[in-house]
Amino acid sequence: MNVLERLDASLSFPEHEKQVLEAVQRLAAERIAPRAAAHDESGEFPWDNVRDINELGLNSMFVPAAYGGTELSYSVYLACCREISKACASTGIVWATNFHATGPIVDFASHEQKSRWLPRIADGAMVALALTEPGAGSDATGMKTTFRPDGEDIVVDGSKVFITNGDVCDVLVLFGKWAPLGAGRDAISIAVIEKGTRGFNVVRNERKMGTRASSTAALAFDGCRIPRANLIGAPGSGLPMLFHFLNKSRPSVAAHALGIARAAFEDAVAYVNERVQSGRRILENQGIQFMVADMATDLAMCERWLWHVAARIEAGETETGQESSMLKMRASDLAMRITTDAVQLFGGYGYTCDYRVERLMRDAKITQIWEGTNQIHRQLIGRSFLNKRRG
Ligand SMILES: Cc1cc2nc3c(=O)[nH]c(=O)nc-3n(C[C@H](O)[C@H](O)[C@H](O)COP(=O)(O)OP(=O)(O)OC[C@H]3O[C@@H](n4cnc5c(N)ncnc54)[C@H](O)[C@@H]3O)c2cc1C
Repeated sequence: MNVLERLDASLSFPEHEKQVLEAVQRLAAERIAPRAAAHDESGEFPWDNVRDINELGLNSMFVPAAYGGTELSYSVYLACCREISKACASTGIVWATNFHATGPIVDFASHEQKSRWLPRIADGAMVALALTEPGAGSDATGMKTTFRPDGEDIVVDGSKVFITNGDVCDVLVLFGKWAPLGAGRDAISIAVIEKGTRGFNVVRNERKMGTRASSTAALAFDGCRIPRANLIGAPGSGLPMLFHFLNKSRPSVAAHALGIARAAFEDAVAYVNERVQSGRRILENQGIQFMVADMATDLAMCERWLWHVAARIEAGETETGQESSMLKMRASDLAMRITTDAVQLFGGYGYTCDYRVERLMRDAKITQIWEGTNQIHRQLIGRSFLNKRRG
């Protein structure tokens, strides 16, 4: 066993979770990974992988048992997310988005609302979370989408961009401002829109650098009428709910990034053990050993931090914002660096589409951008050390 394998082996899951993780590892290796290159090439949504994931009932792990789920631990969810992302980054983010978007329903919806949506999600319904708008990205509080109450209904107007699963979702968790409360951040609210609701339209799907088989949609809401019973929580309570859930979705983005990084690391190590130049294997050169040492060491440190943050969240700790930001930032920067170094270690072959590292480098880039760009995370972490009062 190498050091990273020993780190994985040191994770202790109860027997039933171990069995789920092993089933996911088999699915990832035998079915998802072999299809990844074709999905990247065609850019087609990976429905075959979604079907396989649903056959294993994997959505049910983030749904409480009372609503048809199996409610496994957050750590085993992260481990499964890393395995699927290692096999296919597009499929990893499609499935992880189901988790991210289901979170606000699990944590904040009423019993009646949970009963309507969660059993379907546990059965494999697709979910999306729509926050970003053309003029409101890093500062999402500038969103312009409005929720206008009208009798027993809410009328939704506005637009969203870059919404993962936006065109394929059965359930959309949407952020907008409660019109009677004005246009400030205190008006931000969350409502659910179901597939097929009139006035909810998919405008286009983006063509992207990486994670090409995951869909990224621009959405429009034109006088879209939904029942008021679809509002989650009270009007204006959206922002605290968002902050609460980001602490869980950011480690999930880190698990996605670390899956991509692991795949690149393993491919690179196998290659430098095989490739011979000047009569010796490339890894016999000290300069290459230094590169591999840095990759392995940083991976081990970052993965250990992943499990540390996961354990704090599982223990019910609520002050995990800086921990989650550090994890998301470092894991995504590391994924970018390791995939770039892996391409370098493959030489000219790494630059061709014949080897997976080329795709992994493109897939890694998004992890530095979404779920808060890494500039924003650096600010959040740095700012947390500012004394409240000067001097
Ligand atoms: C493939 C993909 C999938 C996505 N999926 C979803 C999704 O499912 N749901 C969703 O709601 N959103 C999603 N997003 C949106 C994503 O979260 C945003 O793209 C991201 O938050 C950045 O916003 P922006 O693109 O508007 O960039 P901007 O906010 O315009 O930022 C541009 C640059 O300026 C920097 N910057 C901005 N503000 C500051 C500041 N205060 N200080 C320093 N630097 C700053 C940024 O770091 C960045 O480098 C997705 C995006 C992509 C590309």
